[in-house]
Amino acid sequence: MAAHLPEGLFESVFHQFPYPRIIIQADSPKFTIVTFNEKFQEISYTKGRDLVGSSMWDIYPEDEATAAVKQQIRQALNKVIITGKSVTLDSIRYDIPAVNNSTVTESWWQAEYSPITGTSGEVKYLLCAIYNITQQESDKKELEKARDMLAMAMDASGLGGWAADFTTGTITLSESARLLHGVPAGQNITLEQLLQTIAPEHRERANQAVQQAVDNKTSFSEEFIIHPINGSTARWVKSTGKAYYNSEGKAIYMAGNMLDITLQKLEEQRKYDFITMVSHELKTPLTVLKSYVQMLAVRAKKTEDSFTAVALDKLHSQIRKMTVLVNSFLNVSRLEAGRTELDNTSFLLDDLIREKVQELVLTTKNYDIYLKPCPHLPVIADREKIGQVIINLLSNASKYSSPGRQVEISCQDEGAMIRINVKDNGVGIKVSDKAKIFDRFYRVENGQTQVIPGIGIGLYLCSEIIRQHQGKIGVDSVLGKGSTFWFTLPLSK
Ligand code: ADP
Repeated sequence: MAAHLPEGLFESVFHQFPYPRIIIQADSPKFTIVTFNEKFQEISYTKGRDLVGSSMWDIYPEDEATAAVKQQIRQALNKVIITGKSVTLDSIRYDIPAVNNSTVTESWWQAEYSPITGTSGEVKYLLCAIYNITQQESDKKELEKARDMLAMAMDASGLGGWAADFTTGTITLSESARLLHGVPAGQNITLEQLLQTIAPEHRERANQAVQQAVDNKTSFSEEFIIHPINGSTARWVKSTGKAYYNSEGKAIYMAGNMLDITLQKLEEQRKYDFITMVSHELKTPLTVLKSYVQMLAVRAKKTEDSFTAVALDKLHSQIRKMTVLVNSFLNVSRLEAGRTELDNTSFLLDDLIREKVQELVLTTKNYDIYLKPCPHLPVIADREKIGQVIINLLSNASKYSSPGRQVEISCQDEGAMIRINVKDNGVGIKVSDKAKIFDRFYRVENGQTQVIPGIGIGLYLCSEIIRQHQGKIGVDSVLGKGSTFWFTLPLSK
């Protein structure tokens, strides 16, 4: 049973209510004002005037902008009368006038119109509850401005932005990103459709990078070819992104940017084509030089000409270094062109390691390599390429150590994988350089390494070879103390 309110209580509460309220009659189109509270009086144009009995429209200024607002309100009020249900208008502009009505403050409101029904259920009055949302509107505008500025800055830099919503599978693209993917204006595409634009040979790698970034809560940065959906020419894209998570730690969306790097890639390609051409041209004279040096060495031995024998030995060692360099260049070019195929066979890894250690010790002085006994375990891999990795890591270990320091190579059976460690007591590597040394042409630049010759492609080749074998490669190091370079390979058990 509803309790009766003491007389005058409702009026008192209504008038002192801290938000603007007004009650009007449901006599469309006039909407006669029945009553309003003090807060309403403060915000309206009709301060100080007794409006009871006037039309609701009298409280609005007579200008063009307000005409549209009035039209919106009129429709809402009529809807309440027809349906008997409340209607809310989310953002209405009604500026608050100063006391003398000379100036106004831009103000935004949310208005809720509720029916007050008579005994037979018909709507007799309407209660208008008004909330000031100026602050929210201004925050919204600031946010939009910031977004626009960011979009402009991104467009100017050629960067495209994207945001993927994992719950709906939809993707939002900025103007540049849309043009890059050849998506017609006004057409929406799904995340799945966007992934399909990635060239099939790069898709798996890109997917894995995204998945890893999501799992490890890190960002990803990948370069790949895309085939725009409007059939235009394929482009090289560098895409970066990071996921955002809900309170349960589930990734809900991912956002990032993308850059068209086609021109840069073409430039790189020209560079590699040039390197390949020069390397090929150098190979033949080097082979000829090598065979003459070998012939002369045999002669010097016969005639017991020790000076010529020593000189030819040095010459031979320089030719060997140049051959290694030329081969590395050719390998990089092949890798870049995606022309490296594995020639897999089954072999015992410990045999290969022993062979490579002997090769280095026999052909080069100053190598003190200790080979720890390794288990006889077969692997299915490209024997020559894994041999190159071992030689590279052993050569680096002694190159970046003081002469005579011992290098140790060992193996560990890790169940499904075998791990090979190459440990030195050399210069070590700074934490900030650790991830970068496997990049193409990256060399640590410090007093110690600057005097050691090198071009920074050895570790890049090693990491690509190990990646092709589904293995892992890395380094544990303490600056000034030494490093342990390691790699793993799947065992063929
Ligand atoms: P390069 O030796 O021709 O410069 P790499 O790709 O083999 O090229 O190596 C890249 C960089 O990593 C080297 O320049 C060096 O700074 C660092 N590095 C490689 N191996 C070692 C090592 N065993 N100890 C310390 N630094 C190393």
